[in-house]
Amino acid sequence: MPYDREAGPYLFCRRCKKSLPFGPHFGSHPLCSCSPCPLETRYKHPLVKCFEQTDLSPIIAPPQLRKRLKLPHFFLKNETVLPTYSWKDRVNEVHARLAKQWKFKRVQTISTGNHGISLAAQCRRQGLDCHIFVHPHCPEPTRQLMRYFGATLTPYGRHPHDQLRRVCKREQSYPAVSLEPMDGIANPFGAEGYKQIAEEIIRQCPMRKQTWVVIPSGIGDGVFGVWKGFCELKRAGKIRTLPRLAVVQGSGCAPLVEAFEKGWPSARHLSRVSGIALSIREPYSGQHALQAVRDSRGTAVAVNDREILRAMAWLADEGLLIEPASAATVAAAARLARSRKIPKADQVVCILSGSGVKWTGASWLRKPPQA
Ligand SMILES: [Zn+2]
Repeated sequence: MPYDREAGPYLFCRRCKKSLPFGPHFGSHPLCSCSPCPLETRYKHPLVKCFEQTDLSPIIAPPQLRKRLKLPHFFLKNETVLPTYSWKDRVNEVHARLAKQWKFKRVQTISTGNHGISLAAQCRRQGLDCHIFVHPHCPEPTRQLMRYFGATLTPYGRHPHDQLRRVCKREQSYPAVSLEPMDGIANPFGAEGYKQIAEEIIRQCPMRKQTWVVIPSGIGDGVFGVWKGFCELKRAGKIRTLPRLAVVQGSGCAPLVEAFEKGWPSARHLSRVSGIALSIREPYSGQHALQAVRDSRGTAVAVNDREILRAMAWLADEGLLIEPASAATVAAAARLARSRKIPKADQVVCILSGSGVKWTGASWLRKPPQA
């Protein structure tokens, strides 16, 4: 169901609440004067018949983790089985398909790793040029995988979004970026790709009276997209109750957690970030993700590197090689179960968004993790 032309898509400005014609608009719209213009994709008709029938990733009921966390209804949604080993494949399938449909020749983005590999693969599949501004700490093997699919790479400077906006305007290319406007650039389409996770979850482990979905968050498109999926399923009459979201960040970079705890309307930009969870180490989180957590009556948790490494060891005991940013969800579930914020009777689904397999050379991959 990522997005459906037959359901009558239109764009919606979350700031002035205006409905706007659908089309390739990235951070501004000719009929809206908001600046920045936070657009999202909406539909005139409920998305009933366009739900996909096949699940892209399995759900796992891990016996040891259930005992460890004392959560008998604990599940892992294993997104690492997707073609480039992360949930970004869901997003980039939408990006590349739309870029092709709108006759763009070139797609560009900013990436710490997973997103870039996935975009490069999907662009290759659609016969599109791909250029990626990469994080200076992005490991060489990750860069190699991006190049393998034919992408060209440039290391990014202090203001990557500004850099990207200028180059996309000059070259008339499609920006495969986040839904949250940053330096005047945004993409209201890609996050639609995350919605199918919601649909798969309700098929694979039907909603109990109380279900928690634990999601790692950088800028927060995944949080927004999964929540949007559940809300659209409710509108279509497929579920009665919505889950609660528990959003996770690393304690060295937790702008969303800070804004949530302090009741702020939006997160602040952090000037310094640290921690091993590089895939979610974004100095800023979007208002769209913060709103999703609040709307779900959920919570936001920051976990430290020690907790993440311990969760990676627990996952290894289940036979899973999971990157730190994703293992963070299990660390958060452990914390929430211990503090009884999540009671034993609740169902919990942790989204394992990315594999550890691409991180060869990372310090945490050199020896077996110890709990
Ligand atoms: Zn507006």
